[in-house]
Amino acid sequence: PPAIVATKLSKRYGSGNTEVMAMQDASMTVASGEIVALLGPSGSGKSTFLTAIGLINPPNAGTIAIGGTPVLDGETARVNLRSFRRQHIGYVFQKSNLIPFLSAIENVQIAMQLGGMSRRTSRTRALELMDYLGVADRADNLPSMLSGGQQQRVAVARALANRPSVILADEPTAALDGHRGRQVMELFAKVAHEQGSAVIVVTHDHRSLDVFDTTYEMEDGIITKQLGNSLDDFRDL
Ligand code: ADP
Ligand code: ADP
Repeated sequence: PPAIVATKLSKRYGSGNTEVMAMQDASMTVASGEIVALLGPSGSGKSTFLTAIGLINPPNAGTIAIGGTPVLDGETARVNLRSFRRQHIGYVFQKSNLIPFLSAIENVQIAMQLGGMSRRTSRTRALELMDYLGVADRADNLPSMLSGGQQQRVAVARALANRPSVILADEPTAALDGHRGRQVMELFAKVAHEQGSAVIVVTHDHRSLDVFDTTYEMEDGIITKQLGNSLDDFRDL
């Protein structure tokens, strides 16, 4: 089965006069090994969609299956969402949300240690990822000692640490300069293509769109698939 099947997700915030339809019948299927970009203006519902699939902010209606397992049916959980998320999903939040009283490397290790990996093995893996992302020299600093961009790179390392089958990232390169941003996007593509993860990245960074297999656009809560550069996209012609 595809890694992610989201079907007709809808989400409403508030009620009466203040009601906002943030997401309407949004559907997306992502295969293992596929990396998808989700574009669209601010306020179009991208974070709402991503946090629904990340099992953080359930939709009001629609279904989500991950790796063939039905996990959400509207607001109803079909699995223990927290433990399912820990095991299968790596999430990079728009704001890095590192644990403030743990060092950078402990923030990366904790995901692996909760999964039962030894301290030593998790430290080696954390250092490897942090080295690739150029933040290994900050391993023992608290998050508050790091710049916004460094914190975001630590958050990326944390999301990838457990080799999750699904990786979701909400503007992971917003605080990074062009070169660093590109490097993070290339790492996500490598993880998709070599490790077989399904990756969805919300981004405004049009310079790195070439790393993606598929592009979707969201506007006023509605998702549409863009024609890609694969022949499959032109099957009907
Ligand atoms: P949202 O779509 O979630 O409302 P915004 O588009 O308002 O988020 O972006 C949040 C912040 O990040 C803004 O200050 C914006 O300028 C900045 N930002 C977004 N994308 C990028 C990017 N690719 N490069 C640099 N800054 C960005
Ligand atoms: P994007 O990520 O594309 O910027 P969002 O998913 O953050 O879009 O927001 C979609 C719409 O839902 C916006 O109109 C936003 O103001 C509204 N919204 C998002 N979160 C909440 C919330 N917690 N309460 C009320 N309205 C919200």
